[in-house]
Amino acid sequence: MRYEVIVIGAGMVGTSIAWHLQKNNSNVLLLDKKLPGSETSYGNAGLIQREAIHTHPFPRQLTEMIRVLPNQGTDIRYRIPAILRYHQALLQYWKYSTPASVKKIESEWQTLIEHCTSEHQTMISASGADELITRDGWLQLHRSEETFKEAQVSAIDARNQGVEHNVLNLEQLKAMEPRANFEGFVGAIHWLNSWQVSNPSSLVKAYAKNFQDMQGTIKENDVKEIVQDAEGWKVITDKDTYYSDKLVIAAGPWSNDLIKPLGYNLPLFPMRGYHQHFKVTEKNTIHHSMFDMDKGFVMGPMQQGIRITTGAEMTTMNAPKNFGQLQTVLKLAKKILPLEDAVESEAWAGSRPCMPDMKPVIGPADKHDKLWFAFGHSHQGFTLGPMTGRLVEEMIHDKPVLVDLAPFSAQRFSN
Ligand SMILES: Cc1cc2nc3c(=O)[nH]c(=O)nc-3n(C[C@H](O)[C@H](O)[C@H](O)COP(=O)(O)OP(=O)(O)OC[C@H]3O[C@@H](n4cnc5c(N)ncnc54)[C@H](O)[C@@H]3O)c2cc1C
Repeated sequence: MRYEVIVIGAGMVGTSIAWHLQKNNSNVLLLDKKLPGSETSYGNAGLIQREAIHTHPFPRQLTEMIRVLPNQGTDIRYRIPAILRYHQALLQYWKYSTPASVKKIESEWQTLIEHCTSEHQTMISASGADELITRDGWLQLHRSEETFKEAQVSAIDARNQGVEHNVLNLEQLKAMEPRANFEGFVGAIHWLNSWQVSNPSSLVKAYAKNFQDMQGTIKENDVKEIVQDAEGWKVITDKDTYYSDKLVIAAGPWSNDLIKPLGYNLPLFPMRGYHQHFKVTEKNTIHHSMFDMDKGFVMGPMQQGIRITTGAEMTTMNAPKNFGQLQTVLKLAKKILPLEDAVESEAWAGSRPCMPDMKPVIGPADKHDKLWFAFGHSHQGFTLGPMTGRLVEEMIHDKPVLVDLAPFSAQRFSN
């Protein structure tokens, strides 16, 4: 069968693109080797981050570098083979991380973030997924007076961009989460207009189901080869071959595997994270996700239990799991909450798809007609999936596009 558009990758990004296209009268096939929302969009911290107006630059200050180098941190770790493999992308990442460059990047990034909750809301309402969403924000916990003060200044600035917050002292924090032990903390920022999802994979699945209800097609196939000829696109998978006029690559951290054979080589690199769930009891019940700002991990109430998610580990995609970072995080987390019974025997691991300039690639490919890229959303792909879906639909259907897409074009790395 011939489709108007094939979208490869049914994470939050690809599913949202397929949804928008199908809703706007395209005949879409969404392809993934697994069920929708089974990879990175399964294992994240489940935050729809309206407050995420800042990016994650490479550490450039000497004190920061000295802190990261011994490779014992809870927020960031690295493995040498990954440094060697991605050294060019990392060098670019370093260059893009000067204060002046970050300022410009963040002003472009913010044009996406400002629409994240409203774009999710459209899809949540259409999919009837409201029961997965909590809209009373999340808590950014601080252990040091210095980072707490900096965060307060930054939060006041963020008000200009529609980001709402409250500053909480320890007493107010305790009142919000009475089961938690906040010994060693000095206070928190309560981000008010960010949302929490109780099962990230289920939200992607709800969007995918709604896409099917609109007559969209989903197939569980592993894409092996992509070919363009005079007829259009031919997508060869482990099970079948599919044909379309237009093609979108939204395969998250695997996107380069699919586009390299077509002659593209974008500096995409993975940043791994781990999670493990712990059974909820009367003693550890929490109502908000809590991010330990100074140690870089999240504890969030999920359907499966309390999900502990780590910061980033710079490693290659297929490297074996290394639980060192998670083990250190768990020791800290267990001081905050009694976490006795792990739900899974082995922790989950997945990779954030990152670009050196901290912005996703959203736009047409330059060497082929009717080919679009949408990947590299790094730490906020779950937040930005629906916004990306809207933008890709507008581009493909030649409509006016909500934001200027020049800062996100694939061609920005051509030179
Ligand atoms: C620990 C952790 C915590 C995070 N927390 C948050 C958070 O709170 N909020 C937030 O906004 N973001 C968060 N993120 C980031 C977010 O999860 C990612 O940016 C986002 O999920 C990326 O979505 P995606 O659709 O691009 O990729 P994915 O969800 O990885 O989807 C890509 C899909 O492509 C498919 N695929 C790949 N190759 C092929 C092939 N050859 N054939 C067929 N299918 C293929 C895969 O099977 C996969 O389903 C977190 C990430 C991690 C790791």
